[in-house]
Amino acid sequence: MVAPADLSPIPQAEAPRDCPLCPRLVRFRLECRAEHPDWWNAPVPAFGDPDAWLAIVGLAPGKHGANRTGRPFTGDHAGILLYQTLHRYGYGNRAASVALGDGLELAGCRITNAVKCLPPENKPLPAEVKQCNAYLRAELAALAPSAAILALGAIAHQAVLMALGLRRADYPFGHAAIHELPDGRTLFDSYHCSRYNTQTRRLTEAMFFEVFERIGEHLSTRAAA
Ligand code: SF4
Repeated sequence: MVAPADLSPIPQAEAPRDCPLCPRLVRFRLECRAEHPDWWNAPVPAFGDPDAWLAIVGLAPGKHGANRTGRPFTGDHAGILLYQTLHRYGYGNRAASVALGDGLELAGCRITNAVKCLPPENKPLPAEVKQCNAYLRAELAALAPSAAILALGAIAHQAVLMALGLRRADYPFGHAAIHELPDGRTLFDSYHCSRYNTQTRRLTEAMFFEVFERIGEHLSTRAAA
């Protein structure tokens, strides 16, 4: 059974379970359903607080992670640092996300992906990012006007810009970059907390914490204004 905390915070930003819009991803979804009928194997909805002041955007579900469990960044390596960090900075009531119904709740934060369906080899095609962008646009439209957005990796960063109708050339991706957006929101960038990036130390724990420190400073300045 799906617990209340696991229900999508913004239902209008969610795809139907059998969303047909990306033929390659639909084929892969059906293969996964045949191979693992007990897994989620469907578009993975956003998770977290409907009144979030921080939206975190990842790339796409991992096969053994979100595609298996049905919650972003849950069940594989990529979520370990993310959920530990959210707990450290007061957004989560637990330091680990294990599965739907595990009691994890987020306050002030919600998490989604640029692409809601599992892509082969964790690599969505540009056309799939574009196709799924309407859902991300709806997700971001529901954010408060002074909210922060954290993009994990360059593709998530570009998907956020596309959703907001902004030009890439005006907002280049860079780890720890901060972009003030014309609508009053602020976009923060980080390298993705993937297994590859953390194990090669392209992204260290300290680097990730630094990004959250800056987000915290930004949000407290906005709250005090
Ligand atoms: S990636 Fe998005 S648009 Fe494409 S099939 Fe999945 S939910 Fe639909």
